[in-house]
Amino acid sequence: MNEADSQYIARRAASAGYTLAAKPEDASVLLLNTCTVRDNAELRAYGRIGQWKALKTVDPSVKVIVAGCLAEADRDRMRKLAPHVDAIFGTRELKRLGDLLAAWRDDFGDDDGTLTREVQTPMGGAGEGIAGPYDFLRAFVNVQRGCSYFCTFCIVPQVRGRFDHRPLAEILAEVRVKVAAGAREIMLVGQTVNAYREPATGEDFADLCVHVAALPGVERLSFVTSHPKDLNEKLARTLAGIPQMNPRFHLAVQSASNVMLRRMNRKYTIEEYLERVGVFLQHNPSWAITTDMIVGFPGETEADFEQTLALAGRGLFAQAYMFVYSPRRGTPAAHWDQVDSALAHERLRRLAAAQDAACRAYHDRKIGTTVRALITGTSRKDATMLAAKTTDNVTVIFPTIEDTPTPALPWVDVRVERAFVWGVKGTPVGRAARWELPGQAVAARRREPDVIDLLAL
Ligand code: SF4
Repeated sequence: MNEADSQYIARRAASAGYTLAAKPEDASVLLLNTCTVRDNAELRAYGRIGQWKALKTVDPSVKVIVAGCLAEADRDRMRKLAPHVDAIFGTRELKRLGDLLAAWRDDFGDDDGTLTREVQTPMGGAGEGIAGPYDFLRAFVNVQRGCSYFCTFCIVPQVRGRFDHRPLAEILAEVRVKVAAGAREIMLVGQTVNAYREPATGEDFADLCVHVAALPGVERLSFVTSHPKDLNEKLARTLAGIPQMNPRFHLAVQSASNVMLRRMNRKYTIEEYLERVGVFLQHNPSWAITTDMIVGFPGETEADFEQTLALAGRGLFAQAYMFVYSPRRGTPAAHWDQVDSALAHERLRRLAAAQDAACRAYHDRKIGTTVRALITGTSRKDATMLAAKTTDNVTVIFPTIEDTPTPALPWVDVRVERAFVWGVKGTPVGRAARWELPGQAVAARRREPDVIDLLAL
């Protein structure tokens, strides 16, 4: 959701006449889109806001904006703690942000973003996450805002409000615009997308997917994130009949203990979760199921935890986001007796070990196959390598292709040679403009060093 909001903010800024600065020191406006789902994200946001004060001290014309969930939840405290912040936008106020940026634009003259200020400590960070050269290929389209389910650990209903589903016509109009702009994958996003209900007609999420897939030019379709309560046979059957669906279903389980699920107000038992996933896989046997799991939730006993550990050990999940429970202000669970932090972290370590083995096994199965993946950009760890995502959302790393891969040829066929917990590595063997086209042969840029035949010298 935050990534989707960041892309929206970047578009609003671009249409107000701004360009993206390479680093904070060069920017006229610094905008932080925050998350408050975990304490750590909140601390990092305040750290970054504090750092940016130095830039305003050197150049008071610099503007600082804080947006997102933390801005929504912590507005008053933020005003006190960080008076150098010029504007605060909650998640429901982002539409007004474009007007403010447009009003400020004239103050900056023809600043082209190349300004370098004398700042004692480099700020670090860049805006590439919201406007990389390949970002438009996978376009987020919001289908709803907020959530009405009130899990006892979650702050989303407080900061994003209750369900507010977008009209179908608006969603389809946005999809058309993004496809026309070159998007190869449309990702429908919402806190609980599969609870979607068209406000006027009552059509559900399965109907929405059918409508989106029917639009000309939609090559691939994906969605995130879903709630087990709203997974039904109709959705499983409908998705199986949509050829463009990416075979990945993110379905947060959170815990395998019914006692914990009840305390979390998750509205299903583990038996119901597994039964619904079973029905889904009967219709869609090749799909990857991914999940979220929380350890150390208030009241979690060793026996509760071991049920979650055993579930991870079954290898059901191709990937999982695993967290130690983080108390959030204003949520019921924050007031309950907490599990000892060291114990919770030890449980996370054990859970991660079990899930890592499952992820590795899932990736091992790709060795020797050729996968088609959508380029996401340069590998973060090695600038000579490119990164891409398969349709089941596995990260693929491979050497840069000889002639720089333009976004016009974004699909890469990679022969998988090695598997890791985080994804796979391989050699590119083809690339294509569109998903359904055969790959054109490619050469990797990296070559083996020439072999010198000493005997022949
Ligand atoms: Fe939060 Fe998801 Fe629960 Fe809604 S369903 S309250 S977004 S965890």
